[in-house]
Amino acid sequence: MPREILNPFKIAQSQFERAAERLKLDMGLRAILSTPKRCLTVSVPVRLDNGDYHVFTGHRVAHNMARGPAKGGIRFHPDVTLDEVKALASWMTWKCACLDLPFGGGKGGIAVDPHKLSLGERERLTRRYASEILPLIGPDQDIPAPDVYTDAQTMAWIMDTYSMTKGATTLGVVTGKPVALGGSRGRDKATARGVQFVLREACRDRGIKLKGAKVAIQGFGNAGGVLATLLHEDGARIVAASDSRGGIYEPKGLDPAALHRHKAGGKSLSVFKAGRKVTNQQLLELPVDILVPAALENQITADNAKRVKAKIVAEAANGPTTPLADDIMFKRGRTVIPDILANAGGVTVSYFEWVQDFTSYFWDEEEVDRRLERSMVKAYRDVAQTATRGKMSLRDAAYVVAVGRVAEATRVRGIFP
Ligand code: NAD
Repeated sequence: MPREILNPFKIAQSQFERAAERLKLDMGLRAILSTPKRCLTVSVPVRLDNGDYHVFTGHRVAHNMARGPAKGGIRFHPDVTLDEVKALASWMTWKCACLDLPFGGGKGGIAVDPHKLSLGERERLTRRYASEILPLIGPDQDIPAPDVYTDAQTMAWIMDTYSMTKGATTLGVVTGKPVALGGSRGRDKATARGVQFVLREACRDRGIKLKGAKVAIQGFGNAGGVLATLLHEDGARIVAASDSRGGIYEPKGLDPAALHRHKAGGKSLSVFKAGRKVTNQQLLELPVDILVPAALENQITADNAKRVKAKIVAEAANGPTTPLADDIMFKRGRTVIPDILANAGGVTVSYFEWVQDFTSYFWDEEEVDRRLERSMVKAYRDVAQTATRGKMSLRDAAYVVAVGRVAEATRVRGIFP
C-alpha cells in the first residue's frame, strides 16, 4: 500500500477534489476554490517574565470569502504549521457553507506551548499576535474565535487590542468572548451541543439507542469534556476518556463530573482513580458504540481504521480521520459524522454571537440552544439525504452540499475585475 499522506492541507484538498469531481466543477473554479485567498505569517516577539525575549511564529489564513467574512479559530499549540492552518481554514469554508452560514473560512495559530507560559506572558503573546494580524481582521473581514488551548479570555484580549487600536469598542471582531463582553450565552457548550444534536439523529438513523450506548471520547477540552457531560445526561455510558497524556477505560461507565473535578485539579485523566489506563491510540479501538475524536488531526488512519469497533464516529475534532481511513470505514459500514458537520455547533453559535453583537440584543440560552438544534438537525438531514441519494459517505455528501454552495456564490459574483 502507498504511504499515507498525512499533510493536513493535502488531505483537505483531496476531500475538496472528490466533491468537485462529483459536482463536475470546471478546472478554473476548482483552482479558485482550493487555493487560500491569503496567508499571513508573522513574528511575535514576547518579553518573558525573566526579562528574556522569545520570538514565536504565528499565522492567519483566510481561505475563502465568497459568502461572507472569513471565520475561524485561533490555535496555540507547539505543532502549529502554515499547512495545518491552511487546512483548518479551508475546513471552516466548507463547514460554514454546510451550515448555510453567511461566512467564509479562516484560521490562525501560533506555534507555542501555552502551558509553559505565565498568564502575563500569554496575554502579551496574544496581544502582540493580534496587533500583527490586525490589518486583516474585523467584524466584516475576518473574525477569529477560540480553538485548541485558547479560550474566552484570549478572545477578550484580542477584542480589547483591536478596539484600543481602532479607537472604538468593537464587539463583533471576535466570537467566543466572555458573556460580560458581548459573548453569547451557550457558546461555551455550543460545539458539544452541536455534536449531541447530530449524534441523536445518526443514532436514530442507525437504530442505536443513545441511552445506554457505550461512548469513548479522545480529548477532554471544550469539545470533548463538555460532550461527555451532555451525553451522560442523555443516558449514554462514557466508558473511556483521555487528554494529551493518555486516558482511562472503565466498561461500567465513568462519571463526567468526577472527571471534570480531577482535571480542574490540574491532573491528567491518565492518572484518574478508576478504570484501566489506555493510550490515546488504544482508546480508538475500544469495544464501544460511539467514538468521539475530540483532540487533533490524523487519529484514525489506514493503519487502525480496520480495528475501530464503534458503529458511529462523531468528529468533534477537525480532521481526525484520513481519506484512506474514511474509505475503509465506509466499506465496513461505519457511520462517520464528518467534522464540517459534527463540530459546526461552535461556529453556528459564533454566528449567533456576531448577530447579537451587531443588534446589541442578547438572547437567553434556551433561545440559543433552540436555534442551534434547528440548524444542526437541518444540516444533518440535508447531508444524510444527499448521502442516501448519491450512495456516498456522510463526508462526501457534506462536501457536495458545501462546495456546491460556495461554487454557486462564486459563479454569481464573478471574478473581479
Ligand atoms: P481544548 O484546548 O479545549 O482541549 C483540547 C483537549 O485535547 C485537551 O483535553 C487536551 O489535553 C487534549 N489533547 C491535546 N493533544 C492531545 C492528543 N495528542 N491526544 C489526545 N488528546 C489531546 O480544545 P477544543 O476547543 O476542545 O478543541 C478540540 C478539537 O475540537 C480541535 O480539533 C478543534 O479544532 C475542534 N473544534 C473546537 C471547537 C471549539 O469551539 N472549541 C469548534 C469546532 C472544532
